[in-house]
Amino acid sequence: MRGKGKLKEKLYEAQHNNSVASGIGSDLLLCPICLQETPFNDATLEHVPPESIGGREILLTCKPCNNRLGAKYDSHVARKIRFDGFGEALFKNGQFHERDVVTLELGESRMLAQIKRDPEEPDRIAFKVIGKNSNPVDVASFRQQTKDYKHGRDEPLKINMTASREASFIHKNVDLSWVKSTYLACCALFGYSYAMSPSLETIRAFLAGQSDQLPICKVIREPVVSDHRFIMHAQDLGLMLVKYEAVSVFLPCHKSSVDRFYESLEELISGARVNSEATFYEWPERFGQGLFWEVK
Ligand SMILES: [Zn+2]
Repeated sequence: MRGKGKLKEKLYEAQHNNSVASGIGSDLLLCPICLQETPFNDATLEHVPPESIGGREILLTCKPCNNRLGAKYDSHVARKIRFDGFGEALFKNGQFHERDVVTLELGESRMLAQIKRDPEEPDRIAFKVIGKNSNPVDVASFRQQTKDYKHGRDEPLKINMTASREASFIHKNVDLSWVKSTYLACCALFGYSYAMSPSLETIRAFLAGQSDQLPICKVIREPVVSDHRFIMHAQDLGLMLVKYEAVSVFLPCHKSSVDRFYESLEELISGARVNSEATFYEWPERFGQGLFWEVK
């Protein structure tokens, strides 16, 4: 806990100093999402990207933003991970998560079951009925039918298995979690001049819950495994390309107009060849790492 307290103090100071240097100074920390003044005790360490995919605590946001966006969007990232993991476990002989639940259907009977793979015999899958969530009549009928079944019959015993809603997630919410993470990574790199830029207002206000207008930006997922993490700033195109492993997000640049961003985005989406003099930055390890007032 001591280490965490130290990190929080460091980030609080870094963010406070930067907001003062940006001319928006206040005695309290400004949450980079809602821009509300936040006392030390209400500031929380924010994982960017979410902890479920190995994100690190690189800056502070206020508790309400952290909790609300965590539940609303980041939870879908965690569910997607579990869902992807479920596919791996099923088709590539991997291990299932203890919360991987499936629905089994045999004739008219349905039941919920936990799915497990025996590490000793990886090509065998075992099911454990979840009694409290299944109809006892169905479970009994299921047992009877499998018991009555004799191997070597012409007709195979047909059991349908469906992954339950436990493993469900909404793609749009996974994307919005990435918009949040990449927006915060840019805030960590460029400080409050990013968060306060009019070009970022639509995204920031949406994340802060101050507006219902969905931000226009682009999230791309590459099928190949990559460990590249960087932020590319193309001021002439009015955009940032924020890349974290297999995910790339195009966000507006804070030093250009948002209309320039929309133009460039359209060109890029249409597949046009776009030239730019871009600057590359390493993925920020913590807020303010590259900011001028830290250089001594
Ligand atoms: Zn906030």
